[in-house]
Formats: sequence, C-alpha cells, structure tokens
Amino acid sequence: MSHALDTEYAGNRDPYLYDFIPVRAENAQEPTVLYGLEPIGIGTALVESLSSYLARLAAAHMLPVSALLRDVVAIHLPNDDHNLEKHIGPQRIVKNMNGMAPVTSNLVGVVEKLTGRTNLSALTMIPFSKVVSPYRLMSSESFWCPYCLEEQKTSGTPVYFPLLWSLNHLKKCTLHRCPLTSVCPHCHEASSVIASRTVVGFCPFCHNWLGAKTKSRIKKIDCNNFFVRFFEWRNKTDLSQYEHTFPSMLKYLIGNKLKKADVATLARLLHLSDSIVHELLSGKMLPAVGVSFWISKVFRIDPMDLLTVSEKEMSHRDVLAIANVADSILSSHTTDWTQLQGLLKDVASGKASPMRLEDIARVYKCTLGEMTSIYPEFCSNVTKRLNRLM
Ligand SMILES: [Zn+2]
Ligand SMILES: [Zn+2]
Repeated sequence: MSHALDTEYAGNRDPYLYDFIPVRAENAQEPTVLYGLEPIGIGTALVESLSSYLARLAAAHMLPVSALLRDVVAIHLPNDDHNLEKHIGPQRIVKNMNGMAPVTSNLVGVVEKLTGRTNLSALTMIPFSKVVSPYRLMSSESFWCPYCLEEQKTSGTPVYFPLLWSLNHLKKCTLHRCPLTSVCPHCHEASSVIASRTVVGFCPFCHNWLGAKTKSRIKKIDCNNFFVRFFEWRNKTDLSQYEHTFPSMLKYLIGNKLKKADVATLARLLHLSDSIVHELLSGKMLPAVGVSFWISKVFRIDPMDLLTVSEKEMSHRDVLAIANVADSILSSHTTDWTQLQGLLKDVASGKASPMRLEDIARVYKCTLGEMTSIYPEFCSNVTKRLNRLM
C-alpha cells in the first residue's frame, strides 16, 4: 500500500501527509455489535447511571430503548426470565438496573461485550456490594434534578442522569440542594428507572423536556453529602482488597459506647433483633444504608466511619482525642511520659474510654514493653477493664 501511494503521489514532497493512516490499521480492535459509547463521569461522584447510559446508547443507534433491550441485549442474557418482551418498567432487571443484584451483573457483562467497554460496573452500585446490602438501596422510579438537566443542555454537554439520582436515600440534588423530582411537571406521570421510549431528559409519556431554568447559579458539589463522600471513597479505594470493617466497628461500639457491653444491649438500643445483630457481627449480613444511618444517629458517629473504618482505627482516634495533643504527639519523635502516665491513669480508672495498650503505645511512640515496665499497675488495670467489656 505504501508503495502504491509513493508511486501515485510521487510529486508530493510532504513526507507526513499520510501519517493519519494508522500503522497496521487491520489489527485495530475487534468490531463490536454496538458502538462503544463513552460513559460520562467515570471516576467522579457524578458518574452516569447504567439506565442513562443505555438510553443514550439506544439514541446513538436511532433505536427506542425497548428495541435495544429486547432485540439486541436480551438475546445475550443468561436467563430468559427477564420478561423484556413485555412493557418495559416493572421487570426485576429494570428496577435493579443501576443496583447490585445478580441481574445487574448479567446486564453489565452483556453490555460490555456488545460495546467493547470494560468498566460499566462503575455505572452501577456493584462496586459497593461488599460494603452495603442491596436492601432498599435503589429507587424503583426515575428521579432527576430539573436544574441540572437544563444546565447540561445549555452548556452543550450530553444530557445524562448521574447514578446518585437513582439512590433511594438521596433526596436532594448534590449541586442545587433542591429536592429531586420523579413526577413530570407536564403530564404528572412518574416513570420507571427506564421505559420503552426513554430519551434522557424527556418524559417518556408526554415527551416534554424535564429541565427547568433556575436563577441560582450552579453550586459546587456538596462535599458533605454522605453519598458524594461514599462515591469518592470508592474512587480512591481498591475495593478488591477491601476488608469488611463493619463487624469490627460494631464490636467497637459494644465495647466502648454501651453501659453494658453485650449484644442484647446493642440490639435493644437499636430496636433490632438479637439475631440480626449477631448476623451483622459475624459479617454474614451486610448493613443496609438505612440501618447505617440509624446506627450513626444513635451513636452520633459519621456513617462513613461506620462503614469504612475499623475498630483499630477508631481506638487509635480515641487515644488521640483523649490525649488532645494529637499534633504535638504526632510530630514529636520522643515519648511524653508525663502525658502518657496521665492518659493511662484516666483509662485505668474509667475516667476515659477503654482502649488497648497497643494503641496507646503506638500513639505515644514507645514500645509496649517499655510502657508496661514503667507503669505495670496502670497497664494491668487498663487491660483488665478492656477484658471485662469484651
Ligand atoms: Zn441539580
Ligand atoms: Zn410527561
């Protein structure tokens, strides 16, 4: 081919003229059934949802969503009980489209194969499936912020629904702080997560635009919002290495925050059955987001800590908080024995929360051996107190 070009265009002196032709273009990526449309916002808290992606994918092929799902996707799904040949909306696979159910994983696998994309589980809650339970996690209807839609349209970026909008517990837009809406302002209908004729940003019933102008300028994303933080944590954490910390956190709460340190007391306080608390403690049951919010409220701790921090880390923080000299201790390389003695005395006598000797030694930059040989009595009382609670 290069020979033919050289001969034909021998008079042309620009040696870079044909650089746009890729070398070995014949080895390019295998052709895929569907166009490999790029998802929006991967790696950010405003990542697109799978239902939004599928609606945009259907539009990119000039197909209604129903045709894409029935005629292209469904034939590759492992089970034939998805009922996609019926009216699109009430099916399990539609309700869980953005969630973490087995049907979600199947769907993601098929769409990845058809588009040649590899990271579509990021458009669902699948990455969180080792952290929280799917119980009441997802909304069964489509929710949106009309101001976000309008701003996407006027800024010329593709109109899309962030995954955040499909979460049952997220009630407000993380950019505008206004309530999310699920009812069309024109025909007053609510739509399923995706419908036969969904075009992102338009009502699938009356086909009117769902966006609305606002005078308030777009604000920065609400960094305090639990789900924004949860998504950001996911983006910087290798979840394949994630160790489920929730059971150890429950043990921490039982050991440190209850007057009587046992499961029954915790269960009573939380209005949960003993068996549920046992299941959560054993790690057999994952906490639902609603339960996490409830426990956080009762114990006044951050729900992010509840789900992502271990007992060891919480104990470490307690030592720092009670010592109340975090910065000076952390920046110093030597042990402040006077302060250490004061803390041991308070913990041993019950004036401060119970904590482990290892954590105290670590914070005060001494060895366990040094600490126990200098303050044998305090150390023994600290351990005795902790053992009584466990
Ligand atoms: Zn908004
Ligand atoms: Zn409508």
